[in-house]
Amino acid sequence: MGMGFSPPYLLEETMKKASVGIIGGGLAGLATAIEMATPEYEVILWEKRSYPFHRVCGEYISMESWSYLKHLGVPLDEMNLPIIDQLKLSVPSANEFNQHLSLGGFGISRYTIDHELAKIAKKKGVRLLENCTVREVTFQNDSHLVKTDEGDFQVDLLVGAQGKRSNMDKAWERAFIQKPLKASQNFTAVKYHIEADLPEDLIGLHLFEGGYCGISKVEGEKTYCMCYLTLASSIKTAGGIAELEEKVLSKNPYLKQYLKLPRLYEKAEVISQVNFSSKSKVEEHAFMLGDTAGLIVPLCGNGMSMAFHAAYFWSRLAKAYFRKEISRKELETAYRKEWKRSFNKRLKMGKILQRLFYKLHWTEQAIKLLSKSKKLSSFLIKQTHGKSFYHRSD
Ligand SMILES: Cc1cc2nc3c(=O)[nH]c(=O)nc-3n(C[C@H](O)[C@H](O)[C@H](O)COP(=O)(O)OP(=O)(O)OC[C@H]3O[C@@H](n4cnc5c(N)ncnc54)[C@H](O)[C@@H]3O)c2cc1C
Repeated sequence: MGMGFSPPYLLEETMKKASVGIIGGGLAGLATAIEMATPEYEVILWEKRSYPFHRVCGEYISMESWSYLKHLGVPLDEMNLPIIDQLKLSVPSANEFNQHLSLGGFGISRYTIDHELAKIAKKKGVRLLENCTVREVTFQNDSHLVKTDEGDFQVDLLVGAQGKRSNMDKAWERAFIQKPLKASQNFTAVKYHIEADLPEDLIGLHLFEGGYCGISKVEGEKTYCMCYLTLASSIKTAGGIAELEEKVLSKNPYLKQYLKLPRLYEKAEVISQVNFSSKSKVEEHAFMLGDTAGLIVPLCGNGMSMAFHAAYFWSRLAKAYFRKEISRKELETAYRKEWKRSFNKRLKMGKILQRLFYKLHWTEQAIKLLSKSKKLSSFLIKQTHGKSFYHRSD
């Protein structure tokens, strides 16, 4: 508009439409937003919270995402982050197993990485609406109508990146949320940042009855992330989180020591009803990215890399759709296929290992076996990880 203003009805029209709409600004949503924010496409992202904030996560990112995060614009080389390539696995009897990780990873808090990505997204022109919850979605005339706390929007392609469990899963009546969770499938996760003096290159995985706890370095002097997953029923039986830590976690000598260390924020971050059942990849023509398409067990330490990887291949397919090289149906089929090809194997292997972890006497035997065969342990670790998926020429 040459005069520097638009008629109100036109402004309303242009403001409320976008090429791509994204529900949820975790890693999957933010990476997708940054990928799609080019001059050809308008991108809008709705996030119900406001940055920066802490969330439950082990905060160990597998190296497979290093070059991709740099491609998104995160200055990893300048952030002085801990590089982690040693694993220690322990059980309450004090038996332990140590292994070099050939791929390894790095430590960064979700407080920092999510905030960094949100800043990059905004700079690239993404319309990022914080404190804004998506309430309802309908598909009509080859686009989605999205009802949010900030009004209604119409988008050509809709991405659901709403994480493990959200009001939107209920709105879509998704199968995984309809079935009542069995006690053996219902997990709770707890996270603290603690002050510790441990090797920076080490990730500890310490088992206890009914769960396991990861501990590794993140940015900030002496700052470590301590995050555990437990059956929800164990918390109930113990009488609460503090009681579980005292009566159950502390039976592992490593955890006993770590639970006494100073906590950097008082209140633990907690999420409940974590479940690892399989989920649909496309829901009423909306594309599910990240945990909402399938959650890998935390012991694999690569749920975040899966969220980035899915953002990477979905964006490339979506651009082919906008260039009219493929139809919506072909986009949906190609996305499902790529998801399965990229992640199914590690999801299955992760579930098998987690089941083993919950039987401490089996894990004891497994530790003895693994200590004798480094080849076997390297093989198992490889099965739960992917390879670097971004190369400079992409
Ligand atoms: C105990 C535990 C430990 C883990 N440790 C690791 C680890 O060490 N390494 C690793 O790689 N992975 C780990 N993971 C997995 C990792 O945390 C997830 O894979 C990752 O967070 C997935 O990101 P996401 O973008 O899919 O979801 P999230 O990061 O959960 O983001 C979803 C976002 O959607 C928003 N939202 C939801 N509903 C709405 C709505 N209706 N409107 C607007 N916004 C909405 C939420 O506020 C949230 O910000 C762990 C998982 C658990 C449970």
